Amino acid sequence: MSFQEKSLQCSDCGATFTFSAEEQEFFKTKGYTNEPKRCPSCRQSRKSERSGSGSYSSQRQMFPAKCAECGKDTQVPFEPRSGRPVYCSDCYSKVKLSR
Ligand SMILES: [Zn+2]
Ligand SMILES: [Zn+2]
Repeated sequence: MSFQEKSLQCSDCGATFTFSAEEQEFFKTKGYTNEPKRCPSCRQSRKSERSGSGSYSSQRQMFPAKCAECGKDTQVPFEPRSGRPVYCSDCYSKVKLSR
């Protein structure tokens, strides 16, 4: 069975892109039955969005805290509770190692 190049329209940006014979073959070997919905560049940017732990789009809320070890102001990804020591990243790894 041979594959033929197809023109598909990207569902993201509306650009027409080529679904090449090699790609169709690749899809088939992967067991994908659907054609790609996005052009290569949109696929690429979505991928990097998802995997990139980028500096800007981290939705994680950070709480200000004071390091129990060195007294430095730091931020922790959880709400600091009284009675539980909070460490800055430097001290945290130290404390963790010494245990
Ligand atoms: Zn696109
Ligand atoms: Zn510290």
